Order: sequence, then C-alpha cells, then structure tokens
Amino acid sequence: MADRRYDPREIEPRWQEVWERERSWQVSNQPDDRPKAYVLEMLPYPSGEPHIGHLKTYSVGDAIAHFRRRNGMRVLHPMGYDAFGLPAENHAIKTGVHPRDSTRESIEAFRRQFRAWGISIDWTREFGTHEPRYYRWTQWIFLRLLERGLAYRREAAVKWCPNDATVLANEQVIDGRCERCGHEVEVRQLEQWFLRITDYADRLLDDLDEIAWPEHVKTMQRNWIGRSEGAEVTFACGELGIDYPVFTTRPDTLFGATFFVLAPEHPDVFRLAQGTPHERDVHEYVNRALTESAEERGDAEKPKTGVPLGRTVVNPVNGEELPMFVADYVLMEYGTGALMAVPAHDERDYEFAQAFDLPIRRVIDCGEELPCTGDGPMVDSGAFDGRHNREAYDEIVRWLDREGRGHASVNYRLRDWLVSRQRYWGCPIPVVYCERDGIVPVPEEDLPVELPDVEDYAPRGRSPLAAAEEWVSTTCPQCGGPARRETDTMDTFVDSSWYFLRYCDPDNEQAAWDRSVVDMWMPVDQYIGGVEHAILHLMYARFFCKALTDMGLLGVSEPFSALFTQGMVTKEGAKMSKSKGNTVDPAEISDRYGADTARCYILFIGPPEQDVDWSDEGVEGTFRFLSRLWRLGADVADSTPAEEPPAAPEGDDLALMRKAHWAIEKVTADLRRFAFNTAISAVHELVNEAYRVRETAGAGALRFAARTAASLIFPFAPHAGADVFDRLTGRPVWLEPWPEADPDLLEAETFTLVVQVNGKVRDRLEAPASAGPDELKALARDAPNARAHLDGREVVKEVVVPGKLVNVVVR
Ligand SMILES: [Zn+2]
Ligand SMILES: [Zn+2]
Repeated sequence: MADRRYDPREIEPRWQEVWERERSWQVSNQPDDRPKAYVLEMLPYPSGEPHIGHLKTYSVGDAIAHFRRRNGMRVLHPMGYDAFGLPAENHAIKTGVHPRDSTRESIEAFRRQFRAWGISIDWTREFGTHEPRYYRWTQWIFLRLLERGLAYRREAAVKWCPNDATVLANEQVIDGRCERCGHEVEVRQLEQWFLRITDYADRLLDDLDEIAWPEHVKTMQRNWIGRSEGAEVTFACGELGIDYPVFTTRPDTLFGATFFVLAPEHPDVFRLAQGTPHERDVHEYVNRALTESAEERGDAEKPKTGVPLGRTVVNPVNGEELPMFVADYVLMEYGTGALMAVPAHDERDYEFAQAFDLPIRRVIDCGEELPCTGDGPMVDSGAFDGRHNREAYDEIVRWLDREGRGHASVNYRLRDWLVSRQRYWGCPIPVVYCERDGIVPVPEEDLPVELPDVEDYAPRGRSPLAAAEEWVSTTCPQCGGPARRETDTMDTFVDSSWYFLRYCDPDNEQAAWDRSVVDMWMPVDQYIGGVEHAILHLMYARFFCKALTDMGLLGVSEPFSALFTQGMVTKEGAKMSKSKGNTVDPAEISDRYGADTARCYILFIGPPEQDVDWSDEGVEGTFRFLSRLWRLGADVADSTPAEEPPAAPEGDDLALMRKAHWAIEKVTADLRRFAFNTAISAVHELVNEAYRVRETAGAGALRFAARTAASLIFPFAPHAGADVFDRLTGRPVWLEPWPEADPDLLEAETFTLVVQVNGKVRDRLEAPASAGPDELKALARDAPNARAHLDGREVVKEVVVPGKLVNVVVR
C-alpha cells in the first residue's frame, strides 16, 4: 500500500472552511417537514481558555447533533457564554482590567477553540449573558416575576464571605468556608431579593416523573426539595408569651417529647437567653455554630452540642414544661427552625438527651431497643394508650386541630432562592427606591438598566455599584421625585435559567422571544452537562419555565426532556488542577494530533457518563487508528475502480460486507445509548477487517467498507470522516442519510469453524462471526471430537484463520 500521510493540519481547516462557507449548521426558524431536535450543551463560563472538560462536553453534544441531523432531523445546536460572574470580577480587582475586557478575550479564546474542534454550531445565534441585548430581557423576566409576587424583598440572615464581601448561597459554603476563596464564612442580616421557588415545590417534584433524566439526578432534586408530610404543632413559651410552631413527621410521638430545641439562626435565640444565667454561653455558642456548614451540622457522627436557654415551653398534649435549648443539629432551613425532641424515638434527640442527661420516655412499644422508630401500641400517651400508633396518627392531628394547637402540614427542605449579590459584574436588578412610593419597577421601555462603569470593583460591604453616584441617583418613574437605584446585581444563575429560550429567537428586539418560535423548538430534546449542576441550575431553569408557562409566555413547563451528565476527566486518577500540575491542555493535544484525535480519544477513553483517566499513549493510539482509517479510504479511492458493492458477495467480500453491516448496527445502537466508546471500537474493527482482506477483497466491497467507516466515524471525527467520504464518493457526508444495516447481511452471525489437529480436520462447529482469535482458540480446544486428539498432549502452536479454521499443533 502506498505510503500516505494522514495530515489533520491540512484536512481540518479545509473542511471547517467548507462548513463555514456553506453555513452547514445554520438552521432557520421556518419549519419544514423534518422533525425538530434541540441539542444543547450547558453554556460555558468563559474564564481563561477551554479545558479538557469542555472538550468532553462538546464532543458528546456534537456527536448527538450530527447523528440526529443525519437521521433526518432539523437540529438546533447553538452556543453562548455564561459571562457574568466572580472570576472576571476578582481578576478586575487584582489587575484593574475591566471584566468586560477580560471576558471578551476569554470568549474569543473559546470561540476560536470551538471552531478549531469543528463543533457544528449555528453561530448566528451566539450571545453572552453579559450583553445588554441579552440582559435587557433577564431584567424583563425579573419584572414579570415581581408583578406576579414571585420576586420579593425581605431581611434575611445570610452567609457572608468577608473576603469576597458577598452573600453566598448555602451550597457555596463548604465546611464553614467560602467555596471560592476558602475564607471563613460569617452571618449577617441584610435586605435581599428572593424568588419564590417554594411556590413550585410540588410541581418541581411531581413533574420529575415526566422527564428522561438519570435517576440519580432526579433523586438529588427530590432530596433537595425534601417534601415530607406531618403536622405543625404549637408549643407556647408562657414566660415570654411566644408561640413556637414546630413541624414533625411523628405527631404520634408527641407524648414522648422531653425537651425543645431551637436552631442557632432562630431569630428569638438571643431574646430568650436575655437575662438568664446562660446569656453569654448562648452568644458564644451561636456565633461559633453559624459558621459551620449544613453538611457539618447534619453529620450524624458529630457529638451533639448545645446550650440551655433557661426557658421552657408547654407540650400541648399533656401540659408538661419542656426545657429549651439551642443546638446546632437543628437547622433553620428545615421546618420552622424549632424542634420538639423525642429522644426515645429519634437517634439525634437520643444522643443529645444522653449528653445532657435529659429524660428519655418510650411512648411506642415496638419491641425494639431505644432509640427506635418501629410501630406498635402507644404507651404513656394519656387517652391514646393501647392504640396502634399508625391508627392514632390522624386522630392526634385532628385533636390538635380541634384544640387549635396544630394541624396537618407538609414541609419542604427547599427554600426561596436568594438572588441578590453585592457585586459589580452581574445583571442590575431593575427597580428604584422612592421615598414616597417605595419599591418602583423600572418601566419596560427604559430597559435595559445598563451596568455603569466604575473605578473600583472591590466590594466594601456593599455593591461596587453603590459608588457610581450618578448612576444610583435617578428619578422615580411613578412620581418624578428623587429615587435611588437598586445596587445589588442578580445571582448569575438567573442569567442561565432562560438562555435556552433566547437561542430560539436571539435577534428579537421587540420581545424576549416570539412564543410560536420558542414553542416550536422547545423543549430541549437532549441536554448535556456536568452532574455538578444536578441541583441548582437544573432546578432554577425548571422553575423559570413553570413560572413563565403560568404567565402564558411559554407553552413548555419542562425545559429539558432528556438529560445526559458526563463524568470528569482525571489524570493519574486525580482531578486535574493547575496546582497539581496534572492538567492536559486540549488546545495542545489538538495542535499536535488534530481536533479529530482529541475528540475521538476523549470519547473512546471510556463510557462518557463515567469519570475517565487520561492517558498520553491512548491519544497516540487514537491518532494511529484515524491515520489507518484515512489511509485506507485515500488508497482505496485512488487505486480501485468506483464499483458498487457486489449484490451477492462471497468469500472475503462477504466477510467484509458483514463486518460493515455489523458495524452500522452496532454504532447506531451505541449512539442511541451514549456508548460512544464501543461505537468507536466497532469502527476500529471494521477498519481492521478491511486491512485484513485488502489484497483479496473486490473493489466494491472495499469501497463500501471504507465509506461506511468514514460515515460512521463522522459524528466523532467529522473532518477525517468528511474527507474520506468525499474522496470515495464526491458527496458531503453530513448531508448523507445515516446508513442502515442490511438484515440479510447481519443474519449470518455464525460461521462453520473447522478444527484441525496437526493439520488433520477433527471437528466442525458453529462459531460467532464476531469471535476474536482467543475465543476461536478456546472453542477449538473444547470441540468434542478434537479433544480426544488433544488430551494429554502439549500444545506447541495454534494457527487461527479468522472466519475459517483453527489448527492446533501438538506433540
Ligand atoms: Zn470568599
Ligand atoms: Zn415616587
């Protein structure tokens, strides 16, 4: 075979130019008779240059986009940038470079890289969430939420990073420290904007049943919403005349309550302790506890701590006085931040009772040791004694209701979404404060409220925007009097909660979108991204779509009907990080081996949903495979006549045709189930088979095999696929329908294997067509009629002729 070199440096830019010139991936909003498919990867956050994780995400998404196009679908595959956020702002604080400039540079780097990877993007729909033409509509959506009472302002205790001088969401606090900078977190009271996601808790839960998401992601969402049924029961603190409602899933254990606990964040804690001997201890304890994360505090292994408050509450079922404590195992985020403790029937209450030597009273006789949660007859429970706890459950709730001391209730772990950020590089919140009118929304025609330039990005306990006096002071749209602008900006998760809608209609200047256009493209048919977004981004986007649907602005209340979460790429078993020096630069890999090798390898390395370990030898192997595939195609194109495959193939032609149809079947099925690694393996096998029969098979079969290999590798290695297919057929592979396997050529999945011992035929048996040499050897050694000639003799050598025979040489 002629010595030809596979040269991605020449091939790849050439095909990228073709796709650009022909606008191959552009799709119009005019429907045609093809079904639509919206394929979307989570939009990247532009910081520095793309990393290896981006290569993986977009290689997965692009394979799906190509596969659907070639299956006759009209595919929307757009790109944008989640461009507001802290890294650009922190960079600005250090260097003085405006976040807009560093963001632009980074976006350019991303765009260059995506083009160099040959990702099939409709670039006409591109935008960054930091552009006024986009955030104008983010502000517009905020005003719609405000109108519906879904955005509101209240004072709240917030987790505060003194180093970044910003509010942190609970999930941004890791072990009491800021997720971004590692500084210890404090607690502050601030007036904040919230979005009322809790109104949608039940629908966010119920509608999970309708979408094709990985079960573990659904479970994470369910746990985050944390719905539980039970009762709200009121305990009164007589000394101070305050009622404390608590949520419990076990009203049947009310008679077993022996103390009462408040979370450290509970607003009454200091008031309760005031004037008691415990006042100082309480202050110290609360300040320490507040900097711990919810995970730390929820840790079952952690010894229970707390401080008495020096007060009591009355148990409504029996009038007993229960001592009050503050303890960090109670979370403000759960229920009302207050808890009736039933140590006999709750593990954590039990531990606390032991640590503080408090009474433990069994009220359900389930026959287990304490603490226990089993069912059985009630004891020590007044009028309910002897009743089975399950039967008495509803009756107790009804009794509480009648007495005005409680009622049936549902509790959610989900809290409203705090969206205020005291930072510069975000979307301004479009309201003003007027002395006369209070909070006044900025009228729609005055949007966007543009982010002004400032001198100093460093937050000083307030938003840097507060220093832009000329911008802040404005007039009230209602009364024309003096007013001041909101200086907080929005959590960047707001920006990314609706970007997939804007892609459908990105240039619309009259509205955020045209409903008929959005309803045509939505929902996203396949969403692809990291599992780290399983909760926040995905929950917020679902909430937005439900709220917008309720306002009649959208016809689709679940944005992502199918979700694929890809795993991480590690190096030597460890997460890649600059500090560890174990990063792989995807640009360097594609510069050296070509984009196709980089893309193909990242998918070949292992199942894409799993974490996979990068290996430099593996990259070499993929490069060699693509070289072989390309050389096969180029040589067959040049050295064989342009024949069609034989109608009734025989011998090596038949073997090769079968392999090709087997590969079509396998790659098609694997693409449907995201098994890209085994799909690429199948093309590998096909190429190997073509080389094996290169000298003996006919031109028609060889051409068919080579163009099938090109066609099948195209979703993973589009440049090499397009190039080989073009050489063999003169046609653009991306317009070619996805190949279909011929069932007649698939049926003969077995062949008659001849087993020889020392060159003499001793047996014949049916062997699978896909069996490799090792499997054939094993079958031969086990063949019943050959065994008699093999037993007790030493095997010197085994000769395998695939698809035909095995000769075992013995002495
Ligand atoms: Zn921080
Ligand atoms: Zn006013």
